Amino acid sequence: MAQKAFSDWIALASSLAYEGRAFIDGELQWAQSGRTFDCISPIEGKVLTQVADCDGADVDRAVSAARRTFKDRCWSGLSPRERKSVLMRWASLIRAHADEIALLETVDSGKPIRDTVAFDIPESAYCIEWFAETIDKIGGEVAPAPETFVGLVTREPVGVVAAIVPWNFPLLMAAWKFAPALAAGNSVVLKPSEKSPLTAIRVAQLAIEAGMPRGVFNVVTGGGLPGKQLALHDHVDCVAFTGSTLVGKQIMQCAAQTNLKRVWLELGGKSPNIVLQDCADLDRAAQAAANAIFYNMGEVCTAGSRLLVHRKIKDALLDRLLSAARLYEPGNPLDPSVAMGAIVDQAQLARVLDYIEAGRSEGKLVAGGARVKQQTGGFYIEPTVFEVTPHAKVAREEIFGPVLSVIAFDTVEEAVEIANDTHYGLAAAVWSSNVNTVHEVSRQLRAGTVWVNCYNEGGEMCFPFGGYKQSGNGRDKSLHALEKYTELKSTIIRLR
Ligand code: NAD
Repeated sequence: MAQKAFSDWIALASSLAYEGRAFIDGELQWAQSGRTFDCISPIEGKVLTQVADCDGADVDRAVSAARRTFKDRCWSGLSPRERKSVLMRWASLIRAHADEIALLETVDSGKPIRDTVAFDIPESAYCIEWFAETIDKIGGEVAPAPETFVGLVTREPVGVVAAIVPWNFPLLMAAWKFAPALAAGNSVVLKPSEKSPLTAIRVAQLAIEAGMPRGVFNVVTGGGLPGKQLALHDHVDCVAFTGSTLVGKQIMQCAAQTNLKRVWLELGGKSPNIVLQDCADLDRAAQAAANAIFYNMGEVCTAGSRLLVHRKIKDALLDRLLSAARLYEPGNPLDPSVAMGAIVDQAQLARVLDYIEAGRSEGKLVAGGARVKQQTGGFYIEPTVFEVTPHAKVAREEIFGPVLSVIAFDTVEEAVEIANDTHYGLAAAVWSSNVNTVHEVSRQLRAGTVWVNCYNEGGEMCFPFGGYKQSGNGRDKSLHALEKYTELKSTIIRLR
């Protein structure tokens, strides 16, 4: 397929129909209340369309459609091979409409088109394919029971899964949940973020075209209200959430107050990227450190937002980092040469600017620090770098923006201590050329993913993804993700 130019994307964006209705029981539907909210593009701050502002009545409709389909087994009762072929067709349709879906993602969220085209959309399709491929290959177990018994250990779908997701990788974070959940035979109600609902609505329509029965996959649009109602709903069996730690805690409380639905949480992070004195390639470490915090405008749960560097190499690394950061000059994300797009919305822009103000008062501003391109009406922030102590607010709290805290250390022990001194535990990285140090440090890092001599690499589906501590529980991706969406059953058969 020929690569599109900036002007092609602009022309396509202006001719695209932006669908804002929820997708419930196989139909596009406005909220029963008739309420809508503005869907604003962060590129120029303009309204793209109206989106259905769903509430409890719409959540009830979606959950009862999902419950009905789970009960009548129109999906869970298909043979694994039949489910797989529907999912594979769905992934093909997403690939066939990839440019349109990538464009929706970019105009809705401000992510660079080069990333949505090359990564978000194909990776979402791949995620569906990956889990579809697993489902006719994984069997249960025959337990080593006494001779007079046959013991079967099988996995069964949990029922109705609510997936509540954020706006930073809108379709991909959703796919990490709905792909294994649907592959395992569950029915799903997806609640995308109110900041980025458009791709979820589009792919739900494609699911029907792929042959998925109506009501198996539903999309309820809106903000915290429908999210909370899903978390409270007695006919939801499992809620799989990606988002902030604050809301994750509320979701757990909702489940505890109601039917003890299974709760799986993928939450925030403040990930340390540790560069030891014996790092073999400072150029590579600097490039990776810039990418770790400026890719996707820093709106990445695993962002390497704390760069811990040995004091003796700090200046050398910083010089290289600042030149690598130049690649991330903010620009219109529809321009395929732009690596740093717009911040998702006005509220997030204000939040990041507040943190930058806090950083100025606590540390030394080394680069960036300003809102730019204000004349466009869009929300853009320069790549920003502070030198701070580990106690600074910018070094402790998740900012979810292009703001890096650089912290110097003197010993490996001190680096590990600082790295682990956070209530998060999503990811970490260490750079060293000593194989002993690499293993020792990575064992001590309390994080669900540890990268060595790289950052944010190896994104393949085979690696489980999730957090220690308050970064969550359970794992997305990999075969382990299927554990979240299945119940384990022991069937114990006495022979005589
Ligand atoms: P958020 O917690 O504000 O919202 C996430 C989702 O929850 C949205 O769909 C939102 O509408 C919904 N929601 C809000 N209040 C709710 C409530 N009371 N009950 C139920 N649902 C509610 O998070 P966000 O701002 O959309 O996303 C940023 C956060 O997501 C960051 O903390 C980031 O680290 C995290 N994140 C984590 C991962 C991961 O895999 N660990 C991946 C991406 C993002």
